[in-house]
Amino acid sequence: MDVKKIYMDADALLEGHFKLSSGNHSQFYLQSAKVLEDPKTAKVLAQALAKQIKESGLEIDTVCSPALGGLIAGFALATALDVRFIFAERVNGAMNIRRGFEVKEGEKVLMCEDIITTGGSAMEAAAVVRELGGEIVGVAALANRGFCKRENSDIQTKPNCKLPQDIPFFALADFTFEMYAPEACPLCKDGSEAIKPGSRGN
Ligand code: ZN
Repeated sequence: MDVKKIYMDADALLEGHFKLSSGNHSQFYLQSAKVLEDPKTAKVLAQALAKQIKESGLEIDTVCSPALGGLIAGFALATALDVRFIFAERVNGAMNIRRGFEVKEGEKVLMCEDIITTGGSAMEAAAVVRELGGEIVGVAALANRGFCKRENSDIQTKPNCKLPQDIPFFALADFTFEMYAPEACPLCKDGSEAIKPGSRGN
């Protein structure tokens, strides 16, 4: 399956000159929500991810996603794995599990995001699951920005990766495009102006 082509066809992988939330500039931007707006595509991607996870033999009781970004991917993955789905959400900046969701002592929980950059949000949500007694058995995402090593890829973990190294990380593809500090951005040097993704029209 050509995951990059699926993202391109869905206008979920944008090419241009972007200002990322970190302040860095990039020629590419992943708008993961776009690839999931067609439920058929979401289902195909989630089934491919579920197949990888099942083949690994990992036992999972529940998929948990941090809101908002991970919700659709997590729900689609839980459907494909035929397990329970819960989510964590930020309340005044801190990750929480609310809405009557319970986590049992020793419950095997797979954290799921749409895209893993450093894995910060997934690990914040994982800490809440652990506090409630759950065991984090793995992390999954549709796309990997290339800072963390995933199963079936030879990309090496970078120092800013926040995922623990002792549990598996599953993703469908690596999207390892360059990021530049604004003063070192070759696109700026060529005279174009960086736009903020998520602003009107993108
Ligand atoms: Zn630039």
